[in-house]
Amino acid sequence: MPFSSLQLIPDLQRAISERGYSTPTAIQSAAIPVIVGGGDLVACAQTGSGKTAAFCLPLLQRWNQQTPATPRKVSVLILVPTRELATQVGDTLRSLAAFLPKPIKLAVLFGGVSINPQMMHLRGGADMVVATPGRLLDLIAHNALSISSVQTLVLDEADRLLELGFQDELNQLLKLLPAQRQNCLFSATFPEQLSALAQDFLKSPTRIDI
Ligand code: AMP
Repeated sequence: MPFSSLQLIPDLQRAISERGYSTPTAIQSAAIPVIVGGGDLVACAQTGSGKTAAFCLPLLQRWNQQTPATPRKVSVLILVPTRELATQVGDTLRSLAAFLPKPIKLAVLFGGVSINPQMMHLRGGADMVVATPGRLLDLIAHNALSISSVQTLVLDEADRLLELGFQDELNQLLKLLPAQRQNCLFSATFPEQLSALAQDFLKSPTRIDI
């Protein structure tokens, strides 16, 4: 199946070609239509499966179709377990967004570095946020951003989020999100604790096993 059959807008197709991708991976073929359609999703996907573009492409497409928010309010929140993954997801989003007509303001937030530059960057808002849970809570506590306008939540490498002990932070963040939202969960494994969490917050999700 070619990328053109996934009904992505030409600006995204151009970015896909520039990255050198010719055909979608299995997770991309399965996940992109579900996320573009606004549904909840739970996907069993390993690193290396192309999972990052599988959620970045449809999120950018949906965001591009929305009327611009002024001031910028966070409409997409991607939670990741580590600084490395935050950087990698941020880089993928930025490169796939390169040809969109609307400039996107992206914030990539993680701990282990000074909070001040991140607070400065968040002045004037952000459209999409990629974050590790602890630093995100710190920034919310400092009133540097709000997640009350989020329309789509993605948990990437959700099993690692739990392994690294982020369950409490996730519960706190879930309470701050609007009840009405789209949820996407990507994980390589599904331990009991994760299945329970998934059942708690996903609404009739499409399940994808690759
Ligand atoms: P991920 O599983 O998201 O970490 O992606 C693994 C690697 O596959 C990354 O280097 C991506 O740039 C690359 N990749 C993602 N989608 C495709 C595709 N459709 N064709 C070729 N490479 C891809």
